[in-house]
Amino acid sequence: MAPRTPKVKARKLGREKCWGQAFVGENRLEYDPRLSAIRQLEVLIHETVHLVHPEMSEKEVDRTGKVVARVLWSQDYRRVLLDKNAKPPRIS
Ligand SMILES: [Zn+2]
Repeated sequence: MAPRTPKVKARKLGREKCWGQAFVGENRLEYDPRLSAIRQLEVLIHETVHLVHPEMSEKEVDRTGKVVARVLWSQDYRRVLLDKNAKPPRIS
């Protein structure tokens, strides 16, 4: 069975005092959109690893998030903000 893609939500996590959180049973995660782009990348990887490998320790997950984020960043992977009108409208 193919793993389902987790639901991702950007939300200001002030009260939670964290940068992101994973809800393993619900297969979803949240991250704080105020973080820098590389930190967002790291948090997205970190929380996704929690969902895929709930048995991994926080230390292992943390290490994985940091290393994967740095590798992707070093290869120029970046966030691109797409404008609502980025795609030309379909004219029928
Ligand atoms: Zn964690």
